[in-house]
Amino acid sequence: MADLKRCVVCDSADLIALASIKEVPIHCNVLSDTKEAALGAAKAPLELVFCKNCGHIYNADFDPGLMAYHGHYENALHYSPHFQRYADSVADRLITRYNVHKGTIIEIGSGGGEFLDLMCRKGQNTGIGFDPSQADAPETAQFDNVSIVPDFFSGKYADTKGDFVVSRHVLEHIEYPRDFAKLILGAAKSDLTRFYIEVPNGAYTLATDMIWDLIYEHCSYFTQESLIRLLESTGYAVIEAGNSYDGQFLYAEAEVARPKAVG
Ligand SMILES: [Zn+2]
Repeated sequence: MADLKRCVVCDSADLIALASIKEVPIHCNVLSDTKEAALGAAKAPLELVFCKNCGHIYNADFDPGLMAYHGHYENALHYSPHFQRYADSVADRLITRYNVHKGTIIEIGSGGGEFLDLMCRKGQNTGIGFDPSQADAPETAQFDNVSIVPDFFSGKYADTKGDFVVSRHVLEHIEYPRDFAKLILGAAKSDLTRFYIEVPNGAYTLATDMIWDLIYEHCSYFTQESLIRLLESTGYAVIEAGNSYDGQFLYAEAEVARPKAVG
């Protein structure tokens, strides 16, 4: 059993071993050119632990040095009409609820920018997406009013600020999600900036025996409790949180937490 370390969300040592899988492919979203290349894909162990303190599940044996999000990485869902309807409804809801018009939207982990384009077209916004997998993507989609930075979002881009900040299906790939949540918070242009965070629903994966969703790329499996805990302990105030896409996803809409009044 791997060193269980401490919970990556709440730092608790109150962890229990949940599942151990000796070998899984390191990249399940990288397309191989040949059958031999696919069969020879590098593998690594999954040692899932459950935090009794905050409900988070993560791979205690995760090695981020094994990951490579390059041009052969392909996990887009937007070719599915069912997914397109979902993305459309999320974009409509966010734009209406938070009046996201004629502003700057930042998406961290934007892929080719399909969702960002939706948000920009519907609200006459300008979009900036960050995604290292676009560095040598064979067909980078081009959208009006959307630019894609083919790189990880990092402190290097601290000057890039948005009126609305989106991060969908990224946090579950990050070894230390607390640091990343704080980094995303820094993309707020003002107190009026709102955030939309979406991740797979780890509790749904377990409740429905979707073992094919236990993948090396996902070092974290959020539950609603652990997602809220992560955000509220890193400077966000959660406006609303829930599940979507028939329970498969978790989302949180948040803003920058205001300092509590004294006295
Ligand atoms: Zn925890």
